[in-house]
Amino acid sequence: MNQITIGVVGSGLMGVGIATQAALHGYPTIVHDIDATRLASVGAKAEAILDELIDAGVFNADGKRDVLARIETTDQLERVATAGFIVEAIPEVLELKNRTYRALEPLLRDDAIFASNTSGFPPDLLAQVLQNKARFVIAHFWNPPHTIPLVEVVPGTATDPDVTRRTAELMTAIGMEPVVLTKAIPGFVGNRLQFAVLREALAIVRSGAATPQVVDAVMKASLGRRYGMVGPLESADLGGLDTLLDIGSHLMPELAKDEDVLQLMREHVQNGRVGVRSGQGFYEWDDAQHARVKAGRKRLIHHTAKKTGKHS
Ligand code: NAD
Repeated sequence: MNQITIGVVGSGLMGVGIATQAALHGYPTIVHDIDATRLASVGAKAEAILDELIDAGVFNADGKRDVLARIETTDQLERVATAGFIVEAIPEVLELKNRTYRALEPLLRDDAIFASNTSGFPPDLLAQVLQNKARFVIAHFWNPPHTIPLVEVVPGTATDPDVTRRTAELMTAIGMEPVVLTKAIPGFVGNRLQFAVLREALAIVRSGAATPQVVDAVMKASLGRRYGMVGPLESADLGGLDTLLDIGSHLMPELAKDEDVLQLMREHVQNGRVGVRSGQGFYEWDDAQHARVKAGRKRLIHHTAKKTGKHS
């Protein structure tokens, strides 16, 4: 798939992240949006990502101009449709995605792969409006792609296995760490694990047993570190399945299940505390709090670059 052009539909948070990652790894990239303001800010946003990589010492500033030159922007759907691999990253609204797919499909090249970065719509649901369902696959990136390398590649029931394989290969080629699911389930794998943890974290805070700060400190000093090295099932093997079975037998029934675990989050949202965007959520987002996260991201970028190779 080398020399293939990558098309990105939607130049929001994910679209720019994906396009920058592709351009960083040498791929000509075309980004399309219907919003001229968003489109005009693609270069500056891509540059900010590259600056973060430069600041972390994993990308040479001399290469910045070349990477940015590989990112073309267009307000024309026809232009992005000339790419060999197109990934859709428009808002998670089914009707909008349906409408865009109907307009895009007749313009696509016969040999093009069409992927969606949807967070949760099943591939068969999205493919319903497509004539050619065999070339459609989900490529679920995480935010931000230059820091979190996972891409969940999720085929629908009609997806050609060759499309799935080539998509995973392309993801590796742009420095990502793809996994291929056997079949689609809601939330795929990553978000199911994320929300299982979040459900328990919310229930603990609500029970009064620990503050948000303590819950997060526990995660960062224990599971967060372990999971960077071994996954939960490898970890279970290491701990001993017989031991884990004993613990799980009395602990699993205690975990959050039926109660409305989203209640705590709902209260915050109703009070205008939506997190970073409003400056308050579980935390007060002052300069010190931002600086802590920024320092953590820098460490993570180092670690990711060590695993997937420096960019320059
Ligand atoms: P966003 O709102 O930041 O960006 C969406 C972009 O799509 C906007 O620039 C908008 O102008 C553009 N757009 C809207 N309609 C369009 C159309 N018809 N044609 C072309 N462009 C159009 O959204 P985002 O956070 O980048 O999310 C995009 C997709 O990626 C969603 O499906 C989302 O669920 C998924 N996703 C998001 C994240 C995340 O953390 N934000 C992570 C993984 C996946």
